[in-house]
Order: sequence, then structure tokens, then C-alpha cells
Amino acid sequence: FSSRELTQHFLERIEKYDSRFNSFITVTGERALTRADAADTQRAAGQAGILSGVPLAYKDIFCTEDIRTSCGSKMLDNFKAPYNATVVEKLELAGTVNLGKTNMDEFAMGSSNETSFYGPVRNPWNTDLVPGGSSGGSAAAVAAGLAPAALGTDTGGSIRQPAAFCGITGLKPTYGRVSRYGMIAYASSLDQGGPMARSAEDCALLLNAMAGHDPRDSTSVSRAVPDYTQSLDAPLKGLKIGLPREYFGDGLDEGVERAVREAIAVYESLGASVIDVSLPHTQHAVPAYYVIAPAEASSNLSRYDGVRFGHRCDDPQDLMDLYKRSRAEAFGEEVKRRILIGTHTLSEGFFDAYYKKAQQVRRLIRQDFLDAFEKVDVLMGPAAPTTAFALGNKADPVQMYLQDIYTIAINLAGIPGISVPAGFHEGSPVGLQILGPHFGEAHLLNVAHQYQ
Ligand code: GLN
Repeated sequence: FSSRELTQHFLERIEKYDSRFNSFITVTGERALTRADAADTQRAAGQAGILSGVPLAYKDIFCTEDIRTSCGSKMLDNFKAPYNATVVEKLELAGTVNLGKTNMDEFAMGSSNETSFYGPVRNPWNTDLVPGGSSGGSAAAVAAGLAPAALGTDTGGSIRQPAAFCGITGLKPTYGRVSRYGMIAYASSLDQGGPMARSAEDCALLLNAMAGHDPRDSTSVSRAVPDYTQSLDAPLKGLKIGLPREYFGDGLDEGVERAVREAIAVYESLGASVIDVSLPHTQHAVPAYYVIAPAEASSNLSRYDGVRFGHRCDDPQDLMDLYKRSRAEAFGEEVKRRILIGTHTLSEGFFDAYYKKAQQVRRLIRQDFLDAFEKVDVLMGPAAPTTAFALGNKADPVQMYLQDIYTIAINLAGIPGISVPAGFHEGSPVGLQILGPHFGEAHLLNVAHQYQ
């Protein structure tokens, strides 16, 4: 079939079903069909690459030229990016077709997709449940068959946790593997874009196109990009899997633990051995993250001042009034909370006690992983302590933050992680999280692929 037929298929499904899930903020139907036709012409000329003509969806945090890029916020509801993010540019060059922009927690702050200005996303497995967040729209769109794959971003779990909740595969690459240029910044030292798809193989194909150094992102790493599909079939005999003790403790739902342990048993049957390891600073990851991420966010979000772009209040009295009211009107509650926390921890007199201390803890957390990878090839555990929870169930922000207990240390350490569907508990998908050393994506994808 042609790319036009394929694109039409997904656009029709979005049209028919997305009112149930609210996974898209913007659908770019006509533009998508034009792109599909171009891909078909290329194919007829024998010039098509493997991703040519493949439809995709982008979390609405990736800048897309002339298409609204809202970041899930009223602040950017009227913002059309004047350029493409580097990863969008690369995927467009590979011939992919952009179906549209997916819903997300406002400025990627959240674990349930409930902080979006455009309303919550619902989990396709059970619409009373959240899809996870912040890349909840991408996860739901892929799970519901509204897009074959999507891009997400992961600052503290936002690719892996929604992938787990929606029963799909999501990869957070090593910090620096994928360019952040044109990806709206939340916490710049933690943010990383990555693929969300129905299999590790699809993630590998997407990462092939996305990865690599970008002169526009000084934190992107200049290191050769392997063909991530090459080693998918490598046998796992002799693989050493570490099970971090701290990832199987209090707070982990029994049903999630059972599904994860069953998945690990499958690896043992494939010739892997399992070793008990410890990541002793795990308990400090949530507090360290919720100092560092809001601190960086408070600085990054200071650019939304009502002057250069985004929402502007009516009839400002003076400049200060313009700043204050524009921001007060257009930021949601969670975003304001983070800005307040971040501004506080960065302020004189508090900086050493909070921000500096959190950075020191971050170093220790990173060292935990480096020590573990001296002994084992990969680490395995749950992606989240529970399966998808009900909408409105976590009104207390701290309860919501605790959702991130198994994901955020990975961002603090900068290592890659993937969540792979590992069965169900009471009808809800469970995600197995697999972690590897820096730049170990090819191996993670291989390990994920062998299970699938
Ligand atoms: N839930 C975490 C937060 O709210 C992580 C979000 C993310 O990875 N973007 O900050």
C-alpha cells in the first residue's frame, strides 16, 4: 500500500476515535497527505529509505515549522514555531509523515497528563484511567493505533512511565545522544527526546534517524551512531542482569512485581543470569530531582514574559503588570508550583542547602549506577510502582511525584532506559524497565527485542 493510504488510515482512526482519548492537540491532515504523496513519488523513483512514508506523531513539545507548538500550555496556545526541532528535521529528511502533535502535561510537568491546558488524555485500555505522563498523548495514540509510533521526551520518566501504562515500548536515550535543539526546555540537564512505538525494533529504526551530534546543541555528544537494528537478534546467553534491591521494596504493587519477575524469568530461560545489586542512594532520587528539575524550570520558563511570544494579557498598566498578569493568566497550577519551588531553592541563602546539596546527591546517584555496571550488563525492574491509576486519583502533588521513584534516578545519572510491555495486572499493562550504561542503547534494544 502507498503512504497516502497508510496516512489516510491513521487520519481516519484519529477522526473516529480520538474524542475518546484526547491524545492529539493538533492534527495536520492535509499537510500529512501532501507529505505522503511526496514519499510515494520518491518510492516510485526508487529513492525511498526505510522510514519514507511512515506516519508519526510528535509530542507537542517539539517545535514544528508553521504548526502550533503548545507544550500543553495556554501560554503557547497561539505559538507557531518558526523552525523545526533537529529531530523533527532529521525524521522529515528520512521521509516520515507528521500526523500531528500529541497532548502532554503542561511543559512536561506531571506523571498523569492531567496538567494539560487541553484536558486530560485517557488510557486506551480503560478510559477511566490516566495514560501516564508527561508524554501521555504519544503513548495513548500509539496504544490506540492512531499512530504507528510517536516521539516523546523524558526528563524524569515521561517516556517510560506512559509507555508502561499504555503497554507500548518507550526508550529514553543517554543524555546527549539526541539533540535537544527545538525541544522546548523543561530541565535542560535532564531532558532527552526518544521514540515510543509498538516494538523495540521500531524504536531502533527511529533512533537511527534521530541520534547524533548537532552543532546547535552543545550538550549533544559527538560520537558515532551505530545501526541500532544490527544487533537486535544477538543471543542473550551469558547476559548478567542486576536486580536493584531498592526497586523491589516497599511501595511496589504486588501485581506489578509479579509481572516484572515473570518477565525476568523469561530472560533466565534465554540464558541470562540474575544478580542482586544495590543502588544505595535511590531513596534520595525523588527529593534531589524535585529540587534540580524545578530550579532549571524556573530559569527556563522565565522567557515567557508576555513580550516576545506566547500569551499576553490585555491592557497592561506597565511592564511589571504585563509580566505578572501574562504569566498568572497563562501558566497552570503545577507549573506555578514548580517555578516557586525553583526560584526559592536558587535564591541566596537557600542555594547551598537545596540546589548545591541536590547536585551532590546527583553525583552519588550516578556513581551507584557506574558501580552496578561494573558487575552487570543491564539492570531490570519495574518502570512504575503501580499500573495506571484513575483520573483525579492523585490530587496531592507529593503522591504524584512518588510515581517517579523508579524512573528519575536514570535521568539524574544520564543513562539510557527502556520500558517494555511485560504483561498485565488486573487488565492494565505493566512495564519492565531495562537500564544500561551510557550509550548502551544498542544493547538495551537487543535485550528488549529478544523478550518481544
Ligand atoms: N513526572 C516528572 C515530572 O513531573 C517527570 C516528567 C518528565 O519526564 N517530563 O517532572
